[in-house]
Amino acid sequence: MPIQILPELVVAQIAAGEVVERPASVVKELMENALDAGAHHIRIEILGGGRQRIRISDDGIGILPEEVEIAFQRHATSKLTTAEDLSSIETLGFRGEALASIASVSQLTIITRHASSSSGILMQLAGSEIVRHQSVGAPVGTVITVENLFYNTPARLKFLKKENTEKRQIALYITRYAMAYPHVHFTLEQDGREVFRSSGSGQLADVIVSALGLDSFKNMVEIASRDSDNPRHSEITVTGYSSVPSLHRADRNHITLFVNGRWIQDTRLSYAITQAYHTFLMTGRYPIAVVLVKVPPSDVDVNVHPTKAEVRFRDPEGIFSAVQRAVRRAVVDLAQTPAMRGGRFGGIGLNHDNLSGWENTLSPSQQHQLNMNLDFYSAGNYTRTPLKPQSDIASDTIPEGPEAPLKPRTLPILRVIGQIGATYIVAEGPSGLYLVDQHAAHERILYEQFMDEHARHEQIAQLSLEAQTLTLPPSEARLIEENIETLREVGFELEPFGPNTFIIRSVPALLADQSPTEVLGGIIADLEAGTSPGQVSIEDKIVTRVCKHGAIKAGQILSTDEMQSIIRQLERCRSPHTCPHGRPTMLHMTSEQLAREFGRLG
Ligand code: ADP
Ligand code: MG
Repeated sequence: MPIQILPELVVAQIAAGEVVERPASVVKELMENALDAGAHHIRIEILGGGRQRIRISDDGIGILPEEVEIAFQRHATSKLTTAEDLSSIETLGFRGEALASIASVSQLTIITRHASSSSGILMQLAGSEIVRHQSVGAPVGTVITVENLFYNTPARLKFLKKENTEKRQIALYITRYAMAYPHVHFTLEQDGREVFRSSGSGQLADVIVSALGLDSFKNMVEIASRDSDNPRHSEITVTGYSSVPSLHRADRNHITLFVNGRWIQDTRLSYAITQAYHTFLMTGRYPIAVVLVKVPPSDVDVNVHPTKAEVRFRDPEGIFSAVQRAVRRAVVDLAQTPAMRGGRFGGIGLNHDNLSGWENTLSPSQQHQLNMNLDFYSAGNYTRTPLKPQSDIASDTIPEGPEAPLKPRTLPILRVIGQIGATYIVAEGPSGLYLVDQHAAHERILYEQFMDEHARHEQIAQLSLEAQTLTLPPSEARLIEENIETLREVGFELEPFGPNTFIIRSVPALLADQSPTEVLGGIIADLEAGTSPGQVSIEDKIVTRVCKHGAIKAGQILSTDEMQSIIRQLERCRSPHTCPHGRPTMLHMTSEQLAREFGRLG
């Protein structure tokens, strides 16, 4: 092939790959333009996850009639003229690439009227080519409609994610920007249904309630930096909200970061926020946080990546510690507030149930346990004996029909001796001592019962609730919608009620004493975490979570009968040695080990 300069359209399409990977990125770019234009109202309408149609209407300044055409050229921008301007950029856009890129891979219509102009312009493009250009009457502002995205780049079309994934991503972008711009009134409509709206009241708290749901907001505290947080840079401010330690998630995705109004991803800053919870959160758990950092524009380089989602700081350390200190103080203040129940948060109706775990992180018996002299455990080396393969003890020969009244025994008969620290059951078997984790064991028992009932197509025992509602962030609400059938099969009846609200009609009966919203929150976190390799079905995931909540907890004092009953049931579990998460349910110390430790063996 001879060397040749590529046609303009091909250049634009190649460049578009960087800026508009997917429908959600088109939404992000157009929304940023609307914000840069000073809009107070932004309406986003999506059809078919954005592939069919994306329409964004704003009441910003609009584009001058003579500039509409040029706005669609590559590198056309009104936001900077020299490279030096980059160091003082205060707009979200500056590369002049979005409109050109989007137009090159879609059929696009723009109607815009500049505030100083008496009439508007309608222009239509198909794959960058202008097919219509005329004057029209229009209100001040801009409406851009993008249809049939990637219609002329079939390769890209093939790699698009599922419609639902795209819908969720779009909802995430919109809710994020709504949080960074609480003065702007956002509305998001997907397939003709309004799924999100922010009031534009200017209060971040209001937006968090509509974006994350009241249930989450009630468990968040306000972050406000002080000058003392950044001795080196008094110009850094950190504001936002962060969750109390009892509210946490399995990944960092619930930490939302903005720098000068721009949503960014930054592993170090997410780490600073997580670090602020040091000793308050278990490892592997992360807070929910919305953190807005403001720094002088000259202290941050925004031109690092085409999607502008990464930035570079002149003084990363200074920003890191300012963020960490501000968040830490919010969290520590909370921890030091005595009598949280009635006091500080009473006014906004904090969900006391959720807090109880935090207020008394340890139950009295657990605290007692901590104070006990634990040297006993470290003195010897009571290693865990490798788990015996089930067949060692299992009587595989017993047929296991659905009507088998008693499941085959997989453990020897154990005699309960007592309980340690209200957490472990001590039992004796023919070959030594067993220490059973009561919570893990009960999880295993419930899990197998549940799965058996389900395999026999039995109706899962349910508990009806009196109209209890659950309001979720739009992205989480979509996740529930996608899995509503599976949830029903395992005992959760959820009925859509309003855009992101569900009525919880019933829950699996074994959750009788649990807060259904907390359990569903856990399920959502599990679903969001996606499936890891070798992981089982979605159903399995949900059931595992239900059993975790339904099982007796560590710290609960049990009667001998209760302990006996747990042991009896565990003896007949198919996999009695591990809980559904794969952690051990018991430690076994054989008679030989005991004898050796006491020096009774030659
Ligand atoms: P950038 O945002 O990086 O400048 P874009 O390609 O996104 O580049 O937009 C090009 C120009 O078109 C912008 O600089 C702005 O002047 C104008 N523009 C785009 N969208 C709007 C809008 N919604 N309202 C007003 N002007 C707009
Ligand atoms: Mg732009």
